[in-house]
Amino acid sequence: MGKPPLQIPGPLGVRPSRRWFSVLLGRWLYPLLLVFGELLPRLFDLLLSLAALLLLSPLLLWRGFRSRGETGRLFTPMELIGRFRSPFYRLEFAGSGRFRRLAVLFNILRGDLAFVGPRALSPEEARMVPVEDLVRFAVRPGLVSAFRLRRRVGIAYERESAVDREHVYAQSFGGDMGLAARSLVTSALGGREGGESPPLLNFFGVPIVNTSMAEAVDWILARARGELPGRLAFVNPDCLNIAYGNPDYKAVLWRADLVLPDGIGIHLGCRMLGQSLRANVNGTDLFPLLCEAAANAGLSLYLLGARPGIAAATAHNMQQRFPALRIAGTRDGYFRAEEEESVLAEINASGAAVLLVAFGVPRQEFWIDRLRSSLAPRVCMGVGGLFDYYSGRIPRAPQWLREMGLEWVWRLKQEPGRMWRRYVIGNPLFLFRVWRQARQPERFPLPPGREKRVADQTNADAEQGEAT
Ligand code: UDP
Repeated sequence: MGKPPLQIPGPLGVRPSRRWFSVLLGRWLYPLLLVFGELLPRLFDLLLSLAALLLLSPLLLWRGFRSRGETGRLFTPMELIGRFRSPFYRLEFAGSGRFRRLAVLFNILRGDLAFVGPRALSPEEARMVPVEDLVRFAVRPGLVSAFRLRRRVGIAYERESAVDREHVYAQSFGGDMGLAARSLVTSALGGREGGESPPLLNFFGVPIVNTSMAEAVDWILARARGELPGRLAFVNPDCLNIAYGNPDYKAVLWRADLVLPDGIGIHLGCRMLGQSLRANVNGTDLFPLLCEAAANAGLSLYLLGARPGIAAATAHNMQQRFPALRIAGTRDGYFRAEEEESVLAEINASGAAVLLVAFGVPRQEFWIDRLRSSLAPRVCMGVGGLFDYYSGRIPRAPQWLREMGLEWVWRLKQEPGRMWRRYVIGNPLFLFRVWRQARQPERFPLPPGREKRVADQTNADAEQGEAT
């Protein structure tokens, strides 16, 4: 008996079909499509930059003559690092005045830059890119990047090179067009960044700490490990509207140790006050970062609130994501008043370092404030509808909508009956009140001594940062 024929598992063992259309498809059309897919974005950039240069040629000529007249030079080149880590010179018209940056169209025409792509880095910045993110250099740098867009709306929580890496892997022509369109919309609506970035913001007398997501997570961990307790609240325009007319809620926010800015509305409000918000530090985006940090630090969380089963499902999902995460306990938020004692006892016996309370605003803040001396967890924070998202009960707005600062439109669509007052009436009302505050700031004083406290804290953090 002869040996059985060798079987090669997988596609290697499959003989390619000899039918004419399979040959045409496999040998010619697929490769052509791939090449075309590579060429299409470049072709688009080429044509668009050419069209822009032709259309703007009178302006460019005027600008060129002005630069020549002023400085004797046409351009001021700046060395940056481009595709495949090769250096190139980004052009800017020499001298002062407007329209200097239009010269960048020549860079796009030449192929140094694209309209959409990771930001072109300086040689020093390029040297700092971690090795796992080097793939960002596989594509042309661009004028518009996902990171810039997110930073503009205050949701750039990850490091820039990681966002760039994600962009490179997920890149498509349609995706790039979407990114460009979103950038156009946000820059038209929001304008440029501007104004100083004070450590403490004041909206209707509520002191909001102007911080970053990473600093907020560090603060929670430091308080969870330390002696000082920490009560934390997130406020969005709806909360501030409530605080405007509810002195009890405002007093609770005054007593909180840290109040954080949640949502695009605060961003717009800051613009109206001539200030700049460092980041949109909302509970929903903070939660996974907190879970990761708590898992690394060995600190446990207690999840209290939402409908029965929702907090437990959230705990399960987060433990799947971060296996080292310790959840000390969960409990729904629909217990009777007479059960409060046992709920408290259960939380305190769990040994949790951080308690997240999801009863909705302002109920959760009142609850934490009333029971502050009876709660054992070092850090207590109100988190609103957060468990509904992380349990999967309610889907969160897609990234592209969040990048335009329009997460609230998604919420409105999900629950129009409950949300229309909050957004359709609440958002314009908030902006109107901010406009009035800008005219009469003395009507809205902050709690006495709060500005100094935050300034001291900022200095202490800076010193600690220098020491480490
Ligand atoms: N909730 C609760 N107990 C109550 C009322 C509400 O646990 O007695 C929960 C509710 O299930 C939801 C959250 O509180 O998960 C409030 O969600 P919402 O979206 O209103 O919160 P916010 O807008 O304040 O973030």
